[in-house]
Amino acid sequence: MHKDILGLHHVTAISNNAKKNHQFYTEVLGLRMVKKTVNFDDPSTYHFYFGDEQGSPGSIITFFPWEGIGKGINGVGMATHTGYSVPEGSFEFWKERLSKEGITSSESEIFGEKVLSFNDPDGMQLQLIIPNKIDSREPWITNSISPEFAIRGFHNVTLTLRSADATSKVLTDILGYSLKEQKGNRYRFETDTIDTANIIDIIEDENAPVGRNAAGTNHHIAFRVKNDDVLMEVRERVVAAGLSITPKIDRDYFFSLYFREPGGVLFEVATNNPGFTVDEPLESLGSALKLPTQYENMRSKIEAVLPKL
Ligand code: ZN
Repeated sequence: MHKDILGLHHVTAISNNAKKNHQFYTEVLGLRMVKKTVNFDDPSTYHFYFGDEQGSPGSIITFFPWEGIGKGINGVGMATHTGYSVPEGSFEFWKERLSKEGITSSESEIFGEKVLSFNDPDGMQLQLIIPNKIDSREPWITNSISPEFAIRGFHNVTLTLRSADATSKVLTDILGYSLKEQKGNRYRFETDTIDTANIIDIIEDENAPVGRNAAGTNHHIAFRVKNDDVLMEVRERVVAAGLSITPKIDRDYFFSLYFREPGGVLFEVATNNPGFTVDEPLESLGSALKLPTQYENMRSKIEAVLPKL
């Protein structure tokens, strides 16, 4: 069993309006904006990173906000639900907070854990979960959300698939997860290399529509490794399994590989290094617009076209 995948690194999704997206994740959910940059392939659109104070892997959700893009379909071949860990006793606070924003939420229980499900303004399916195991991660604190309620970071991600088989093999044989529980069409995979953000759920659904990427849908999920050496070892395993995978890509804040797992979900593997403090100090993370070197000479043009937050 491989022991080098340290749970989730980040989750990346697509939104419509940048201002609404920024407001929801920072003000309503109370996450810290840890990086404000642009889409490396399209510098006229933002790339937002929201997470905890330190920008820790396992807490980072990133968005490509495309103004005016239509709604996508959360369906088969996608990460359809993103689950955050919150403290015991915090649901009343969150229900009321969401309701003030006109967002309805519903409670359920999945594998013995309490879950509060709701959608973000674009229809992205989010869950707040009270984990069975105590989550000791330090949350980012805002004026309106105290530590007894604040989001800790990811708990899990749920993939919706026609069949769990081939994807399960990738999770177990390549990424070192093991099947912990199964109930009906729901499977829970977990890695014990780390205590948090270490769960992937799979829902098998024969009838769900095929997913379509646009606003309110996940683009990819990224698994976390310690450094570049480990990244390349994982790459070898993916190649050996007969799957195609990109070369190592420099994402400024981490190094990445991308491959599509057989169930259709885009997987990334990303390094801890260099992290979000590589180009601005911890105290001011996310406050300035950061541009990759190749776009720095276009700064004034880019700033002029990016939507105001
Ligand atoms: Zn990514």
